[in-house]
Amino acid sequence: MKEQLADILDQVLRRNPGEREFHQAVREVFESLEPVLRKNPQYVDAAVLERLCEPERQIIFRVPWVDDEGRVRINRGFRVEYNSALGPFKGGLRFHPSVYLGIVKFLGFEQVFKNSLTGMPIGGGKGGSDFDPRGRSQGEVMRFCQSFMTELYRHLGEHTDVPAGDIGVGGREIGYLFGQYKRITNRWEAGVLTGKGLSWGGSLVRTEATGYGTVLFAERMLGTRGQSFDGRRVVVSGAGNVAQYAIQKAQQLGGHVVGCSDSTGYVLDERGIDLPLLQQVREAERLPVSVYAERRGATFVPGRRVWEVGAEVALPCATQNELDEDDAAALVRSGVLAVSEGANMPTTPAAVALLTEAGVLFAPGKAANAGGVATSALEMQQNASRDAWTFDYTEQRLAGIMHGIHDRCLATADEYGQPGSYVAGANIAGFTKVADAMLALGVV
Ligand code: NDP
Repeated sequence: MKEQLADILDQVLRRNPGEREFHQAVREVFESLEPVLRKNPQYVDAAVLERLCEPERQIIFRVPWVDDEGRVRINRGFRVEYNSALGPFKGGLRFHPSVYLGIVKFLGFEQVFKNSLTGMPIGGGKGGSDFDPRGRSQGEVMRFCQSFMTELYRHLGEHTDVPAGDIGVGGREIGYLFGQYKRITNRWEAGVLTGKGLSWGGSLVRTEATGYGTVLFAERMLGTRGQSFDGRRVVVSGAGNVAQYAIQKAQQLGGHVVGCSDSTGYVLDERGIDLPLLQQVREAERLPVSVYAERRGATFVPGRRVWEVGAEVALPCATQNELDEDDAAALVRSGVLAVSEGANMPTTPAAVALLTEAGVLFAPGKAANAGGVATSALEMQQNASRDAWTFDYTEQRLAGIMHGIHDRCLATADEYGQPGSYVAGANIAGFTKVADAMLALGVV
């Protein structure tokens, strides 16, 4: 079985040259699957793995737009419709200069398993562009979003493909995208995008969901060892959507959050991060975290990673491969108890190995950050029934989903002889549900 897996992986590497992040994501899932394939030879016979490594559809398109100086700009747009065995393609759009096909495919691949783990009827997809919204005016962002949607709209639909936000795509961008979709199609089709504003079809808790979910997962993990967030020193990377609401929930649970970051460096604030001030700087003024540090009288350390300050709970909430072996070693030296991934694949494989060997509780993103997409599915439910739920009810649903994912990961890890491994549990539980659906649907 090991050899068969190695052969398939080899094929994936050859067929997708240069797509480093995609290779990493596939390899990481394959590492958990040997016992599953041994127990379920039908997956091998039906080439489920080979099919899972090939997206159903990949769309790449030109996005022309005009900047404020009247110059024509060209970006590249992507949508990888990865797998629709469990429901319509579902997953965010990322606008960041680093975006290329390999990143979109890694995110789409992860999304398939994550969406499966939520227990909701959603398939997996991901998209985005190498457009950088930072430093762009409101008008430029709007024109870019309109041009992006002018191509993408033909591939979307509430029963086909339902995007949401990700890095660089927040409420503002979703608004412009939805407006253009509505204009082109002449349909007020709420279920075609999630992360919408509350007055036009959005769901309470969706904005908070990913960060909250990551912390709720960590709280449940700590609970297995009789521990909690209360009084713990916490550091968070990033200062965007996921980071902000991870900070909020950790603070609500009694955690003392002393650090956060962005691509320019990190803030150390021993008094505890002042979230309203951070949100004023990042959301309202769209400025870097150094400005927060200046106004707050906290320390700003440029060009370095926040992990070096040490913590009992670490929450990577920025981007892929942002916590490496050295960072993990620094965290272990500081006595870290748990690492819960709010971002997608933020911890390198070597860092995961180091943390695991040191006995640190480790929650992989496909389980720990699934609260965002799960609440997107709740938004779709509300849209379909033309209903709007209360904050408390929606948050209760989110908590129930996160606890369910946590418990399913642990039970599955036990069943396959890897007790306590959330990585194995998430990969196997996510995989088997999709694989069974793919078997049932035949070779399509
Ligand atoms: P945002 O754009 O709101 O924030 C991203 C944050 O990460 C910013 O602080 C940004 O700093 C920092 N960052 C981004 N790229 C880099 C980089 N290359 N190096 C260092 N810092 C970087 O995005 P989100 O908070 O929505 O997403 C964060 C992570 O969570 C991503 O991995 C995303 O895929 C994942 N995720 C998001 C979900 C959601 O619901 N939003 C759902 C599930 C996962 P700067 O502004 O300086 O670039």
